[in-house]
Amino acid sequence: MLPAPASAPARVPTSTFAAPAVRLLLINPRFPESFWSFRWALRRVLPGKRAVNPPLGLATLAALSPPHWEITIVDENIESVPLEPRADIVGVCGMAVQHPRQRELLGYYRRRGHLAVAGGSYASLCPERFADLADVVIAGEAEHIWPEFCRDYERAGWRRLYQETGVVDLEDSPTPRFDLLDLRRYTNVSLQFSRGCPYRCEFCDIVVMFGRRPRTKPTEQVGRELDALRTAGVRNVFFVDDNLIGHRAKAKALLRYLAEYQRRHGYRFQFGTEASLNLAEDWELLRLFREANFAWVFIGIESPDEKSLRETGKTQNTRGDILESVRRIYHHGIDVFGGFIVGFDSDTTATFGNQYRFIRASGIQVAMVGLLTALPRTPLYARLEREGRLLAATQESDNTRPGTNIAPLRMSYEDMVEGYQALYRRLLEDRCIADRIREKSGHLRRPVYRAEYPRRERLRVVARFLRHGVLPGGPVRWWHFLRTLGTALPRVWPQIISDWIAGLSLQDYAARRFGTRATRELGMARTALETICRRCADCLRRGTLSVSVKRTEASAHLTLTLRGAVDEPFFGDVARLLERVLRGSAVTLSLRIEGVAGGQRELLRRCLRRLACHGDRVYIRVSEHLRPALGIDSSVFNVALD
Ligand code: SF4
Repeated sequence: MLPAPASAPARVPTSTFAAPAVRLLLINPRFPESFWSFRWALRRVLPGKRAVNPPLGLATLAALSPPHWEITIVDENIESVPLEPRADIVGVCGMAVQHPRQRELLGYYRRRGHLAVAGGSYASLCPERFADLADVVIAGEAEHIWPEFCRDYERAGWRRLYQETGVVDLEDSPTPRFDLLDLRRYTNVSLQFSRGCPYRCEFCDIVVMFGRRPRTKPTEQVGRELDALRTAGVRNVFFVDDNLIGHRAKAKALLRYLAEYQRRHGYRFQFGTEASLNLAEDWELLRLFREANFAWVFIGIESPDEKSLRETGKTQNTRGDILESVRRIYHHGIDVFGGFIVGFDSDTTATFGNQYRFIRASGIQVAMVGLLTALPRTPLYARLEREGRLLAATQESDNTRPGTNIAPLRMSYEDMVEGYQALYRRLLEDRCIADRIREKSGHLRRPVYRAEYPRRERLRVVARFLRHGVLPGGPVRWWHFLRTLGTALPRVWPQIISDWIAGLSLQDYAARRFGTRATRELGMARTALETICRRCADCLRRGTLSVSVKRTEASAHLTLTLRGAVDEPFFGDVARLLERVLRGSAVTLSLRIEGVAGGQRELLRRCLRRLACHGDRVYIRVSEHLRPALGIDSSVFNVALD
C-alpha cells in the first residue's frame, strides 16, 4: 500500500491566499484503438468529430475544485498534451486500458517538477500500483476526497493517498464543468444519474467500486445538467450509468421527468444508456424509455448459453428468451447494442458458432465481443488466482493480437483467441452486416423523435459514407447495401445508414487488428524498405537516416530513424510510399526523430500530415530538444514521452 500521510516536499507552495491561483491541468490519456473507438467513422464519415465521449469524470473533478483555481482539461483523444504546461498540479485519470499511457504521462510531468496526481477507475481498483508512479493517488469516488486534497494542497500538507472508503451521496456531485470541454468534437456527451448495480456478475468491477445499492441524483439535478448541455447545443446524450435501471422505481421517476423535459423542450435530446436485460420484462419501463426518447441501450448479454450465464452469476439474463427480449426492446423504438463474452468455464470451441448464430438472428449491429478478463479485486480474479489460472500480464500488452489474462478451462488459449478472431471476421463480412440490418429492420420501430444533424450536414455524412464506405467495397458490397435499402421504407434509411457506418467501422478495425496476411504485408514492408534504400542512398551512407523492418505476428513493423539532413526524396516519394503502405495494410511504423536539419522541419511536418490519417499505427519518438519545434499532436500519433 501507499505510505501513510507524508509531509509536504519543498516544491509545494506554502501560502494560501497571498499566492496566485493554483493552476490545475487535468488530462484524459489517449485510449489505445479498440472497437469502441469507431475510428473509421470518426475519420472518414463524421466531419469534425474526434472521439465518442468526453471525459465526464474530469469535468466533475473540475467542478469540485476551488472556484479560484485555474483549471484546464486536456483530452488526449482529441488534442495533444502540452509538453511544457503552466501548471502546478497535473492530474491524470485512466481506466485499465489507458494505464500504459497514464503511467507514461505521470512520469513525464513528475520529472518536470509538477505535482503528479493519479485518479480514475484503475487507480481506484488498485492504488498500490501507483505508489511509485504518482505523488498523490485519488482512489474511489472523488466528491469528498478531491476537495479534501485541494484544501490540503493549499495548506501545503497533502497526503500520498486519498481513498474513499464509504459511498458518496450523489446529491453531493456538482454539475460537471462542461464549459471546459470542446463538446463539438464528440459524437455524444456523457451524463450520470446513478452509481452501483444490484447484480453480482462474477467478472464485474462496478459492484466492487460502487457497491450493490444503486445511488441516484435527484431528477432536478439531472435537469440542471441537461439545461447546461442544451445551452451548449448538445443533442446526443449518453447516460453513462452502468445499469440505469439498477433501482427501478427511481429509474421510472427519472424517465417520467425526462419525458416531460423532452416535451417542454421540443424533444431536444436523443438519449442512450446501459441497462440490464430485465429491462425487457417491464412493459412500463419500456414505455417510459420510449417516451423519454432513448434511441439505444447497451446491454451486457454476454452469452446465449444459459450454463455460461449461470456460472458467471448473470442470472438476470436467464429468466426469459434473450432473443425475444431483444425484439421487445426493438419494438419500443430502442436499438440494442450488445456486449458478449467468450472464455467462461463452460465455453468450448462450439461457443463461437452459438454466439455467431445468436448475434446474427438478433440483428445487433454494435456487437462488442470480448475475451473474459479478470480485473483486480473482482470475484473472478480471486477465484482464478486460487485456481492458478491467471496468466502473466504479457498477454495484455501484446498489441499484435487480442489477448487476456485468464487460462480457459475447456479449450486451449490459442483456440480461444483464434475462435474469437474468426467470429469477428464472420460477423463483419458485408453479407452478415446486411443480414443483421434486415433482421433488425423487421422489428425496430421508429423512435418518438429522431434527433438528426442539420440537413446540410446529413447530406455531407451520406456523401462521405458512400464515397469512403460503399464505393470502395466493390460490387459485392453495393449489392448488400442495396438489398438493405430495397426492402425498407425511405424513412428507415437513416437507421440503415447508421448501422452500415457502425458495421464498416468495426470491420475496418478488425481487418487491421486480426490480419491474416502477415506474409504479404511483410513483403510490402520489405519492398518499401528497398525503395527507401534506393531513393535515400546518400543519407543512409552518411548515417543521417537508418531503416529496418521486422515481422510481427499479424503484419510487419517498419522503423525509420532520422539523425539530421536527409535526401529530398524522403519528404516526397518516401512519404507517399509510406502512406500507401499504411493505407493498404496493417503495417505499423516507428519514426525516431533524433535530429532534423533546420530547413527540413517544415517538410517533415508536411510529411507527418500525410501520415496523420493512419496515426494510430505510427509511433513517434522525438528528441526532447526538437519537441517544441515539431509540435507533434499526441492525439493523432502515438508519441512517446519517456
Ligand atoms: S449487470 Fe452489468 S453492471 Fe451489474 S453487476 Fe452485472 S455486469 Fe456489472
